[in-house]
Amino acid sequence: MTFKELGLDEALLQAIESSGYPNPTPVQARAIPAALAGGDLLVSSHTGSGKTAAFALPCLHRLGQNKPAHGAGPRVLVLAPTRELAQQVEKAFKTYARHLRGLNTACLVGGAPFFAQAKQLARPVDVVVATPGRLIDHLQRRKLRLSEVQTLVLDEADRMLDMGFAEDIETIVAATPAARQTLLFSATLDGVVGRLAQKLTRDPQRIEIVASQTKTGTIEQRLLMADSLGHKTRLLEAVLSGDGLQQAVVFTATKRSAEELSLGLQEKGFAAAALHGDMHQTARNRTLDKLRAGRIGILVATDVAARGIDVAGISHVINFDPPRAAEDYVHRIGRTGRAGRDGIAITFSGPREMGIIRAIERFTGNRLAVHVIEGLEPSARPAAPRGRPGYGDRSGSGGRPAQDARPGSGKGWTGGAGRGNGRFGGEGGRPSSGRSDSASRRTRPDNRW
Ligand code: AMP
Repeated sequence: MTFKELGLDEALLQAIESSGYPNPTPVQARAIPAALAGGDLLVSSHTGSGKTAAFALPCLHRLGQNKPAHGAGPRVLVLAPTRELAQQVEKAFKTYARHLRGLNTACLVGGAPFFAQAKQLARPVDVVVATPGRLIDHLQRRKLRLSEVQTLVLDEADRMLDMGFAEDIETIVAATPAARQTLLFSATLDGVVGRLAQKLTRDPQRIEIVASQTKTGTIEQRLLMADSLGHKTRLLEAVLSGDGLQQAVVFTATKRSAEELSLGLQEKGFAAAALHGDMHQTARNRTLDKLRAGRIGILVATDVAARGIDVAGISHVINFDPPRAAEDYVHRIGRTGRAGRDGIAITFSGPREMGIIRAIERFTGNRLAVHVIEGLEPSARPAAPRGRPGYGDRSGSGGRPAQDARPGSGKGWTGGAGRGNGRFGGEGGRPSSGRSDSASRRTRPDNRW
């Protein structure tokens, strides 16, 4: 299947070619023709599956076919759970629309100046991408009308519901025409998402893309057992000092631990920065810009803040604290393995956190390979899941990664002083002490378990 066969406008095909996409991903191959046919869609697909283009391309195709509106309001409305995701979706629309003339977009997210957004809305806008809260502000202050919306997209609908946006979504949808097309994208279509879908869509086509069809297959997933917070911190420093690491996102359970861990890493000389929901949007954008520019090597983030981050240089995702839900794990590890590259996801777990690890394994259908770092071996070990040999089984053969997990031969996360290439030294300076002991440690699969 090629993009041309999907029946997309020539201007869009040109933009796709410049983006370097060889062929449609599974979700694109199924959702694009279905959306072009005009019906409602319920699509379950994971981060990294190419879902943004799966809705942006048919929306743009239809905009290109019809006459431009005359300042009456957007014809496409996309709702997204977080500011970062909304900004990224708007960017994708702009990228794919680069050869379509006179197409305007606006991104309405909290934390950014309201009046600048209102000014943007005073001119004709074809596509609005927004987080629900800020969109409601604009609606209430009559800065925006949704009566011309032809296509409504709910991106990561499950996440929006998790974040308490159900009521806001219903208010927004009520302001759009009943005859609109609705495209709902979500990691899951069950439970509350299914009930929302029932309310918002008419005779929808259901498209389900299983995780194995997405790009998460290129992410090697490891588990490192940790005895204590101190042990976890030493493991983290060793991983961050390893060869092959370009940039990393480290996930913590709370905003406070993201701040503390980031400060601790800076004190050790790592070019680390925190990203969480308590930060002002300008500071969040600045941090992300530095990450994209390669001036930050390590982003210490909470789940919500890090959603939607798409930076090709992120070679490692480290779950310093395991996620609360198995689904969050998929979103977290999707920060690496971007743009067709391989990635490594490392999850730290104490013995008491093995419940969530098992839930993750059941959810993804993948076993996390237990690794150890030389000199930092844990005293705890994971107990074997019922009926599955491998864990805690010295003689068993299950769960062993096939390849040698020795860090790759890449340049590694360095930061300047010592042995590095100086790429990430700018943000925090780097004393040459404090990490030299861990820099040479090797990660290897733990064959005892
Ligand atoms: P998404 O799931 O929308 O977050 O997309 C994940 C990544 O895949 C983004 O970096 C896109 O630029 C990239 N991408 C989207 N469509 C394709 C495609 N057909 N081939 C290769 N990469 C793609």
